[in-house]
Formats: sequence, structure tokens, C-alpha cells
Amino acid sequence: MTSTVYSLQPGHCTRCSVAFPADAAPFIVSETVARDYLDPSIPRIGRIATVKASAPVCEACLTDGERTWCTAEMVCEGCGDRKFVHPRDKKATCSTACWQRARRARIQRERPPLKCNVCATFFFPKRRADAKYCSNLCRQLAYRLRLG
Ligand SMILES: [Zn+2]
Ligand SMILES: [Zn+2]
Ligand SMILES: [Zn+2]
Repeated sequence: MTSTVYSLQPGHCTRCSVAFPADAAPFIVSETVARDYLDPSIPRIGRIATVKASAPVCEACLTDGERTWCTAEMVCEGCGDRKFVHPRDKKATCSTACWQRARRARIQRERPPLKCNVCATFFFPKRRADAKYCSNLCRQLAYRLRLG
């Protein structure tokens, strides 16, 4: 049995290798790809190891089946990338790193950093905008200093 093994290439269609235009929204489907690319530390022994992975493809390479479910457009709040995914897979961001980036940006927009009254470190308050201390440790220290 032979089947095509594709390689994931950042910014390219996994099936036809065409480069996506900068503003294109690729379709994220499940495809069999060479495992080597995903983890270069895995030694290649004879046959290429493969793995099912989420792979970006262009609209022309979509199968009819994929066209029916790969319909939810998502715009990542972190990196701004657009792509089409299964409605089930639609998220605000495309990765944990993007999620963190979006979260940091949101917090910074809403709340400017404050200076800790004890250690003078700038910090982003988690809840109260009038927080005075960067951590519980500094809060306790301030409490103790006031007592002594
Ligand atoms: Zn393609
Ligand atoms: Zn992203
Ligand atoms: Zn502090």
C-alpha cells in the first residue's frame, strides 16, 4: 500500500506546496505528514515515519468532504493570522503563545503597570486596579513593616 506522504511547510499548502499569499486564510485539515518535520530529533530509519497532523491547505486542494466542515473562519487575537477550521476547533487564538500574547496585550490595554510599594517592581495587577503590591510576599512584608 502506498499513499502520499506530505511535509508540513510553514506558509505553504501541504498538498500542492503553493505559498499562501500574506493575507490568505488557509484551511486547516487533518493530513498524513512526515513525522521528521514535526520532530527533527526522531531518527529516520528506512521508511519515513508519518503522523496525522493539522495541516494548512489551499482552497483548491480541499476535498469535497473537507469543504463541508472546514467553514469557520478564525482570526487569531495574538498574531492576527486568519484560517478556516472546523467550527468545533474555532478559538480566539491559534496557539498557547498567541493566547498569552493576546492576554498580555489585553491586560496592558485595560490596566497600565503599577509599581510595587515594597520592592518597586512594575507589575500588572491581576484583579484590583489599585493594587499596591506585586505579590503576597510584598503585601505581607508591608504589613509586618507597618507593625514593627
Ligand atoms: Zn494546495
Ligand atoms: Zn496566532
Ligand atoms: Zn513587590
